[in-house]
Amino acid sequence: MGMRLSRSIVGKAEADAVARVLIEDGYLGIGDEVHRFEEELAAYLGVDPSRVVTVNSGTAALHLALDAVAAQADIPPGTVGEVVVPSLTFVASFQAVTAAGLRPVPCDVLPETGTIDLADAERRITPRTVAILPVDYASNPWRIDETYAFARSKGLRVVEDAAHAFGCLHHGRKIGSFGDVVCFSFDGIKNITSGEGGCLIAFDEATAQLASDARLLGVENDAKQRFAGQRSWDPDVHRQGWRYHMSNILAAIGRVQLKRLDGEFGPARRRLAALYRSLLESVEGVAMLKTDPEDYIVPHIQPVRILGGRLRHVKDALAAAGIPTGVHYKPNHLLSRFSCGHPLPATEALYGELVSLPLHPGLVEDDVRLVCKTLASALCS
Ligand SMILES: *Cc1c(COP(=O)(O)O)cnc(C)c1O
Repeated sequence: MGMRLSRSIVGKAEADAVARVLIEDGYLGIGDEVHRFEEELAAYLGVDPSRVVTVNSGTAALHLALDAVAAQADIPPGTVGEVVVPSLTFVASFQAVTAAGLRPVPCDVLPETGTIDLADAERRITPRTVAILPVDYASNPWRIDETYAFARSKGLRVVEDAAHAFGCLHHGRKIGSFGDVVCFSFDGIKNITSGEGGCLIAFDEATAQLASDARLLGVENDAKQRFAGQRSWDPDVHRQGWRYHMSNILAAIGRVQLKRLDGEFGPARRRLAALYRSLLESVEGVAMLKTDPEDYIVPHIQPVRILGGRLRHVKDALAAAGIPTGVHYKPNHLLSRFSCGHPLPATEALYGELVSLPLHPGLVEDDVRLVCKTLASALCS
């Protein structure tokens, strides 16, 4: 089989865990397995388990985070709250904002990292702004401390889209161990997968409670009951909720993957990314995205910049050699649904340069060498 851009790395351990739930547990919904996964995520991140809310996708995590933030904000009736979001992100970030009844306001990114440009974000703030939604683009927690300080100085909430950044550290602190509301994705190709799934970490207790209830149709304290093997037979509901909870099947996969991250997936992804960097850094016409040497990055994707207007040529040459590439991402303000009145020059320029190269723990170093050789010779022709 040919080289893949990305893929799930799952095997017998995950299959055994699923079989155990299917055959022995007798309950596939939200129960003991999910409870354990939440406790293990909390232990991994070093946070209180009550602040970890697992759900059935990263998009659901973002939606519930933004829904809770909107509920807690002072949005005058008849006004739509706004969220400043870098345009260079998966459309999930934008759809989650509108799903929560808020308006996404696209902002620019830094050309050297693809992460939020705080100077531009500042220009997008209005009296209606309730939050900013920084994205750890390509798993890069670039100056995330500064982003939190910026939000604090403006009185804004932060919903961090850390879908790429599970297992990463910023200046020695794990992403998800600090912040306001941090959202992870465990979809099939992320740093760890639970099949589909995700979670949010809310450092404010009320935010965590709102999100935990909203994932189970707004039934208050239902997760707590279910983790105790019970149900809320006399429930109360005050707010809109959704069916966003994680299932025991997904949690069983996630628990195995979490154990494999630091010893296996993390080092493999880092080794391949380091090889890409060393082979491409000196190639004329290629620019690598900048990272902070004090950060520990487990890269989910491998975007590089192709300079001099040669992106199309490079992509064609890689395709002709049977090497798949991706685009992360078409900027959201260029999509019909999210088009806005203002241009975002750095985002648009970067979009004209970005190509994502194959990256997943199933690749071998010779694959990376082949990609880099093909790319370098395309730039010479
Ligand atoms: C994957 C991803 C999401 C959404 O996660 P799902 O689990 O696929 O719903 C959100 N934002 C970004 C940047 C992502 O890469």
